[in-house]
Amino acid sequence: MTSTERSTLPEPKAAEIIASRVEREIAAAGWPVGEVVGSELELIERYGVSRAVLREAIRILEHHFVVRTRRGRGGGLIVTEPDSSTVARSMKLFLQYRRTNAEQIHEARMLAELACVELAAHRIDDDGRAELKRVLDLEGDTLEELSTRSMHDFHVTVGRLSGNPVLELNVQSMAALVQEWYGEGEDERPEDALAAHKAHKSIAQAIRNGDVEAAVRRMSRHLDALAPYVESRAHRT
Ligand SMILES: [Zn+2]
Repeated sequence: MTSTERSTLPEPKAAEIIASRVEREIAAAGWPVGEVVGSELELIERYGVSRAVLREAIRILEHHFVVRTRRGRGGGLIVTEPDSSTVARSMKLFLQYRRTNAEQIHEARMLAELACVELAAHRIDDDGRAELKRVLDLEGDTLEELSTRSMHDFHVTVGRLSGNPVLELNVQSMAALVQEWYGEGEDERPEDALAAHKAHKSIAQAIRNGDVEAAVRRMSRHLDALAPYVESRAHRT
């Protein structure tokens, strides 16, 4: 497409094309977080667009956490790190919109989280072992607060330790939805939190030992035990 053709497009369309181009260039450059993409003037020149189109493109890129704008000397567009919790939140909203129920969540968790725990047990290294210890120590310390957030951190961590970002993001979005069903945990029972913590510890032990079979079996048992619990919370909202 020539620049004359592009200039005849309505502005939002042109802005989206520029935004996609910048995204592709950043991805091709290996996503160099903190690097300057260029100043507004440089970018207007580079892409041959109006200031209005460029600003709209920047708005799109900022919204998706691809870049942020830094003012002043050495300023301009700076490559930033997309935030997985923002993406997971969008996914969670979509799941709510599609009226995802507890049964579907259980089905998807069994597929995604059993795959994650299997990969995590295969791929675990010293950093991963330290990460598991950190998240379980925190969970143990905050058990009395009955924080549903910290109980979900374990699942999100196992998702991350799978080494597969696609699976990680899926686990994170499902955790965000279930967490919302649980609410603030005001009516959670301490014995349930303790049982979940114990299950997490035994799953983590199997992952740490690279015992794939035990890790999968224990996670499967844990998710089955959680299912009726999740179901009862899902019906409240
Ligand atoms: Zn759990």
